[in-house]
Amino acid sequence: MDSKGNSLIAYNVLEKRIINSGFCTLCGACEAACPVSALHIQGEKVNRLHDCSQDLDLCPICYEICPHSEALLLRSLSFVADAPVKNEAVGYYRKILLAQAVDSKLREQSHGGAVVTSLLKYGIEKKVFDSAIVSQTEPENPTKPKPSVALVPDDILSAIGSKFFPSSVAKAYGRAVYGHGKTAIAFVGVPCHVLALRKMEAWQHKIIDHLKITIGLFCFGTFSLSSLLDYITEKYKIKPSDIKRLRVSSNFEVHTESGVTQIPMHEIEKHILPSCRACTDFTSELADISVGGAYPLPDWSTVIIRTKAGEDFFYEAVENGVINTWVIEQEPKVYERIVVAAMQKRTSALKEAKEMEKVYGYLPALLLRETDALANIKIEEIMAKNITTVPQDMTVSQFLNFVAKQHHISYPMMNEKGKPVGWATLEEASSVPKTKRDTTLVSQIARRKLIVAYPDETALDAFKRMSESETGRVLIFDRTNPKKLLGIVTKTDLMHTLTKKC
Ligand SMILES: Cc1cc2nc3c(=O)[nH]c(=O)nc-3n(C[C@H](O)[C@H](O)[C@H](O)COP(=O)(O)OP(=O)(O)OC[C@H]3O[C@@H](n4cnc5c(N)ncnc54)[C@H](O)[C@@H]3O)c2cc1C
Ligand code: SF4
Ligand code: SF4
Ligand code: SF4
Repeated sequence: MDSKGNSLIAYNVLEKRIINSGFCTLCGACEAACPVSALHIQGEKVNRLHDCSQDLDLCPICYEICPHSEALLLRSLSFVADAPVKNEAVGYYRKILLAQAVDSKLREQSHGGAVVTSLLKYGIEKKVFDSAIVSQTEPENPTKPKPSVALVPDDILSAIGSKFFPSSVAKAYGRAVYGHGKTAIAFVGVPCHVLALRKMEAWQHKIIDHLKITIGLFCFGTFSLSSLLDYITEKYKIKPSDIKRLRVSSNFEVHTESGVTQIPMHEIEKHILPSCRACTDFTSELADISVGGAYPLPDWSTVIIRTKAGEDFFYEAVENGVINTWVIEQEPKVYERIVVAAMQKRTSALKEAKEMEKVYGYLPALLLRETDALANIKIEEIMAKNITTVPQDMTVSQFLNFVAKQHHISYPMMNEKGKPVGWATLEEASSVPKTKRDTTLVSQIARRKLIVAYPDETALDAFKRMSESETGRVLIFDRTNPKKLLGIVTKTDLMHTLTKKC
């Protein structure tokens, strides 16, 4: 924020950069956190009910806690950064596994593993928390998410399933605290919702003391409600009131009394919210527990456990017989799909972000913008020295099995003399048709350009080289013996370093 006139009031920046630029995803965090109740989401817009500068000279809150501002990102990351594994595609975690509700009726209703519903129902029944923030739908309008404070198991059951439009769950969180006086709240949302809550936590906002657990959903994006429904009405002659259900599989499915209309996803991509195009988080990297699909397994979910609180709660539910689990290492296709989707989302977001910055002179949140601190850190202090490599004569099938067990997504590829000659990555390997994976060698698909740095250079040098070459990793060689590989630095290592410094 600049410091002239009433620009010490964060709302001015929020309005200019986020709301008027179309980057708001209607999470409702600004409404929940505003100390003078000046903000209110009406329809598809945040409105200011009164001029808060009449009450306050200075207030940074709404802009800083908005998930699309650059503030507080690294501090937010610190809530998960003590997890033992960090992965370029899915972030920090303790465990990745497959899970499903033991109750098959719930699985039928959710069209997934119904893990979120089972966890929440268990938590409410056993009084692990006193309420949960969920997204039901309005009875008269089954397409419109209705953010709700669930107090009893039935409230949770009526929120089962995914809704692909914005849900103001952070606003409902505020209602749980102020309206219902709840003190131990479970929260479910997509990655930007979880980020908003983490930012409030980083800000030490008083309402966050009542947050018990966050469950994050995987997310490719949400659609603008009015824009997509208008399109469906115009092109497919389906009125919003006739829609019973919307579902995303390979197509966007519109269910009505008279059947299911299949709409190809590429046809409606333009109705996805602008912020989603520059969003790098697919797996809710800041949640205690993240849950997503487990394609091609029909009634399972993928679960990523990130924090100790998440781990304790999840395994309590497993031990009490409400959740079944299965090892993801036995299902390499599921793991491959998630990592590829996460990497594709990140890569396309970074490309979009450059374009957006040109247009708006500003970007929705992207991690790793606070780079100055990197200039004071030497690469040798942060590089990973324990390097796993792959031989160039490994087949793509062998490589994919190896990746599923190792959980890293890219490896230096060595020639027969033990010299690094390329990068083998999951992205390239998974694009090889299944029928050709046994006969294609990693040497045929590996990236040949090696981005190199030396231990005495700074972490900022490594970051700049990564950015210039649009890669997420550099190899560190010995300056006196340039063939000798000493280590690797990834973007995740840089984020980890910055988080620790924070
Ligand atoms: C907008 C969106 C995009 C998604 N994109 C992907 C994807 O690309 N790949 C993938 O694997 N998974 C994606 N998911 C997650 C997936 O659809 C399931 O939500 C997830 O796998 C959990 O399944 P479940 O059966 O355990 O959930 P359920 O037991 O059915 O519970 C779902 C919970 O999600 C909450 N919820 C539903 N819609 C919203 C919403 N709009 N905002 C906040 N909370 C909501 C409900 O309150 C409910 O408690 C997406 C979800 C959403 C909402
Ligand atoms: S008082 Fe409310 S609207 Fe005004 S700057 Fe603070 S949080 Fe934003
Ligand atoms: S905090 Fe949420 S509702 Fe408020 S401007 Fe940001 S995205 Fe929109
Ligand atoms: S893609 Fe990102 S910005 Fe869009 S709804 Fe999902 S988490 Fe929010």
